[in-house]
This record gives sequence, structure tokens and C-alpha cells, in this order.
Amino acid sequence: MSDSPRLLASKLPEVGTTIFSIMSALATEHRAINLSQGFPDFEPPPGLLRALTNRLASGGHHQYPPMHGITPLREQISAKIERLYGVSTDIEREITITSGATEAIFVAIQSVVSQGDEVILFDPAYDAYAPAVRLAGGIPKHIPLLPPRFEVDLERLAKMVGSKTRLIVINTPHNPTGSVMSRQALETLGEITERFGCYVLADEVYEHMVFDGKHHESALGIDCLKARSFVVSSFGKTYHATGWKIAYCIAPKDLTAEFRKVHQFVTFTTHTPSQWAIADFMVNDEGHIDQLSDFYQKKRDHFLATFTPLGFTLTPSQGTYFQLADYSGIPAIRHLPDVECAELLTKAHGVAAIPLSVFYAEPPRAQRLLRFCFAKDDSTIAEAANRLALGFGITSGATLCE
Ligand code: PMP
Ligand code: GLN
Repeated sequence: MSDSPRLLASKLPEVGTTIFSIMSALATEHRAINLSQGFPDFEPPPGLLRALTNRLASGGHHQYPPMHGITPLREQISAKIERLYGVSTDIEREITITSGATEAIFVAIQSVVSQGDEVILFDPAYDAYAPAVRLAGGIPKHIPLLPPRFEVDLERLAKMVGSKTRLIVINTPHNPTGSVMSRQALETLGEITERFGCYVLADEVYEHMVFDGKHHESALGIDCLKARSFVVSSFGKTYHATGWKIAYCIAPKDLTAEFRKVHQFVTFTTHTPSQWAIADFMVNDEGHIDQLSDFYQKKRDHFLATFTPLGFTLTPSQGTYFQLADYSGIPAIRHLPDVECAELLTKAHGVAAIPLSVFYAEPPRAQRLLRFCFAKDDSTIAEAANRLALGFGITSGATLCE
């Protein structure tokens, strides 16, 4: 018998490091402006920082909080949901605070998906979903969103859902495309899930960033969906604090009970002082949530105005802090597949973006799309555009500088 350990068989053989870590590392290495990984280059609201400082200094907030999160934070979330979506939630049995939406997504999937269950994902899909499904023994079934607006293909969904379907994952507003689901689409989804008895994971982390007079339609606002959904949101996005990793999951009490069975053995609880700070800030949050869509719409519009002269074709993002850019009209780069294009822009031109193809099980061949994050100071976006103009040999771009 050999003493050497058995060769490790990977549980996720097809998975490497996430594109977000890869592109951010490449951006750092080449001193590129990082418009790839999604995070703001500005600070959280001063009132929130003050609340955190106060809680840290006042003592008594450094030990384990309750497993499902502190009561004042769950109360504030419940009040927000009531105000925005007109529904009441049971703070004891339906709301759980998690260490980021990433944890909530992982836990929700582990708590309902078993060996051989099918889980429907819409491509391009955020990269955390499929590996979590595979680790649970589930089988991801991919349906492409319909370009150019990247809408959910409800006809194809109705054909694909069957007795083996356990879960459907939706994401609205959608990363990476910026599309937003309509109430009608959600209602149809609700009818389909009711008919087949499957569950929904609604990733709504960008719920407070929706543009052009539209507003976010939550799965919580549609009775038949609320009854079968895990709805996930993240304070990281809402409060410009992606490094805090505080989020929550709302689900009916039977689903929440299963969710908490897993959550207690993944992280058990979530950072105590940050929970208190967010709860304090939400009591009197200076209208932060209500102005967030306007704030990001201005940033989107600045991005559109600054990047259109470079030759990108830009269908305005409807929500999130991401904008897709089609580069098939730019002679200097249109021949490149998107992964190579993103590398070239980072290494040679000093601007990092995310290639869209990595979010597909089967990437559309001819697609030439990059995702840019516009959660940046206007000067950062202007500097990125100037660098690209130089790189593309655009010399007459009088509109480019600020
Ligand atoms: N879902 C989507 C669609 C996201 O873009 C992100 C971004 N980080 C997450 C989930 C994870 O959020 P968190 O940082 O709170 O874990
Ligand atoms: N959600 C962020 C994005 O889409 C990144 C999160 C991460 O790095 N895992 O860019």
C-alpha cells in the first residue's frame, strides 16, 4: 500500500479564480483604472461611518450577535420592505442577516437543492450561482437572456421547467447586463413556479439602483412569488460599503427554517458592530436609499456621454452600477474576442473591464461586449475615457477631457 495521499479529485473541476479577482489583480499590476470588479471608489455616507465609530467606541458590541441577526436591524429591514413594497414580514421567522449576499445565495441553494435537482439559471449569470448548485449536487440548466435588452425568455422557461426543477434563480436589477424585470414577467414567473412547485432565489442586491423613472419590482411584492422565494439584498451595494459584507435573506418561515439550519454552520453570525451601525443609520438615514437611483443615473449618464465618442455602442443600463459596451464598431479592437480585448485594454491602455462571455455556459460567438463599472467619481471615468481615446488613436475627441 502506498503512503502517498490519493490524488485530490476536485469538486469543482471547471472552476478557477473568479474573473473579478483576476481582472482586479491585472489592473493593479498594470496600474490600470479599475472599471472591472464592481465597487465604488467613494466612501459610505458620513452618518453611517459615524454610527460605526460610535458603536465601536461605546463598547458592548464585540461578541456574537443572535444567529439570525440583531433585532433592531431586522426591524429596520422590515420597515423598509413595508414602505417600499407594501408587504409585512415576520422579523423573527422570515428575516436572516448574512455575511454578504454571497453567503445568502450559497446558503439558500444548499438549503433546498439536493442531488440530481435541476436549477434554472439565466445567462449571462452572476458567477456565484452555478458552483453553489454543483456543490449541492444539483444540475444547472442555462437559459440565455434575450439581447439586446437581456430579457427573461419566459416561453423557453415554461418549456424547460419540469418535475425535476427545484429552483429558479433570478437577478433583478441584473448583473452584468443592467436589465430590470417587469412586474408582468415576475407574475408569469410566479404562475410557472406555482404550477410546478419549485422555489425561486431572487437576487435583488441592486434593488435601489433603477433608472429612467422605473422602479424596482421585488419578488416580495407578488404574493405567489413571495410564498416560494428567497429574496436577497446587500447593504454593501446600498451603502457603498462592499467590504463590510452585510446582507440579508427574506423567505417564508418554512424556507427560513431550512436556511438557518445551513447558515448556522457556514458563518453562524455576522459582524456585530456593522449590524448596529446599519440599524442606527436606517432609523434616520437622510434619504440615502431614496436618492440612490438618481445618484447612479447621473453616473450612468456621465459614463454614456464620455464613452460614446470612443466608438462604443451603449444601450443604457436600466439598473445596477454596470454598463455593457459593444466594441464591434471600434477598428482598433473589434477583431478581438472579449477576454483578449479586456486584457489588452488593461495591459496596453490602462483601463480594466470585465468580458461578458465568462458569465455564459455557452458564450455567443460573435458577441463583442464588455462590462464597465460606473460606481466611480466622474474624474475617474473621464480619465479612463482619455486613456482609451489615446489607445484607440482618437485625436479629435474634444469632448473627451474634463
Ligand atoms: N449578487 C450579485 C448580482 C452581485 O453583483 C453581487 C456583488 N458583489 C453579489 C450577489 C454579492 O454581494 P455581497 O458583496 O453582499 O456578497
Ligand atoms: N459583484 C461584484 C461584481 O460583479 C464583484 C464581487 C466579487 O468580486 N466577488 O463585480
